Amino acid sequence: MVHTIEEAQSQLHSSLTQSQPVLNLPDSQLIDQFQRQKRKLRISLTDRCNFKCSYCMPDHPEWLAKHDILSFEELEQFCEVMVKLGINQIRLTGGEPLMRKGVVSFIYRLNRLRVLGLTRISMTTNAYYLEHYADELKKAGLDDLNISLDSIRPETFLDMTKKPLAPVLAGISAAQKANIPIKINCVLVQGQNDQQVLELVQCAYQQQIELRFIEYMPLDQPQHWAREKVVIEDEIIDILSPHFQLEALPRNHDPATVYLLNQSYKLGIISTISKPFCQTCDRLRLTATGELFTCLFANTGTPIRALLKPERQQDLIQQILDAVWYKKAGYIAYQAAPIRKISMHSIGG
Ligand code: SAM
Ligand code: SF4
Repeated sequence: MVHTIEEAQSQLHSSLTQSQPVLNLPDSQLIDQFQRQKRKLRISLTDRCNFKCSYCMPDHPEWLAKHDILSFEELEQFCEVMVKLGINQIRLTGGEPLMRKGVVSFIYRLNRLRVLGLTRISMTTNAYYLEHYADELKKAGLDDLNISLDSIRPETFLDMTKKPLAPVLAGISAAQKANIPIKINCVLVQGQNDQQVLELVQCAYQQQIELRFIEYMPLDQPQHWAREKVVIEDEIIDILSPHFQLEALPRNHDPATVYLLNQSYKLGIISTISKPFCQTCDRLRLTATGELFTCLFANTGTPIRALLKPERQQDLIQQILDAVWYKKAGYIAYQAAPIRKISMHSIGG
């Protein structure tokens, strides 16, 4: 393990100058001042989305211009550097990643990073277009999907997303037929779907699909968030405990606390608000415009687009290492900070 930025740089220099593929995964050189190694990178492919989720999208979104968004060539170059530095899992997100033309070819191309240490290519999607993409994504080498589904009642779904439920359910079936492992993500919001916890769990349990509840975070641009709208982990457990035998499993780097239901089914709860998991955070995020964020709650990112040129690779690496090293302790450290301009659909959830 490296402890200083100089050690990280020296290790980095030797690994980047090695022409042999890195087959035995070394420690990640993406390490912060609190000794947290970064292994996971989330890339927002676009800020655009066809949904208007109440907890995410501004009322009047202003989309980025095409030229402001990183090209796939730039993204590939960035991903290669990040994998050489220690990232082993890449998740494509947005906005809605399936709205970015060329996403399937990009996944094909990312596969060449597997010899450098990449072990998993994932995507988070609202699944609206998934029925048409599922087979292609599987062939391209996508390892798994997280699908957002906040309700299985058409009227609640429409109320929360402003889109019909049926295409999403068709997308889920298509992913299952294509043999892509899926998890369902569900954000609970008081007054919208908080009464549907049990039916969501029962449905996922019957179908043996992994479900994860996400506590509503203050990341929506119009600032609709309020503490009383958050359905917290303990409330979810109170709802479920009369119906299931529940056992909390030991935590790892996964942001979710995983509960074993009736000794057979795993339910995750991502409790960013009530029980932050910052001390084990191993994620980094890149926005569609090329800003590296070390935390969802950070006010600013590090712009790296200008450094995505072969002759500036050392500067790029330096910027990345510095940004990671100075990552703050976590969510708590940002609580008093001013509210920033960037929202969840821009940073990439
Ligand atoms: N459009 C895709 C989707 O919805 O799956 C990918 C992008 S979306 C920003 C990624 C994830 O962030 C989704 O699971 C969504 O539910 C979650 N999310 C968005 N806004 C959130 C918020 N304010 N609090 C908690 N989770 C949020
Ligand atoms: Fe779009 Fe995903 Fe945000 Fe919903 S959560 S508005 S689907 S980016």
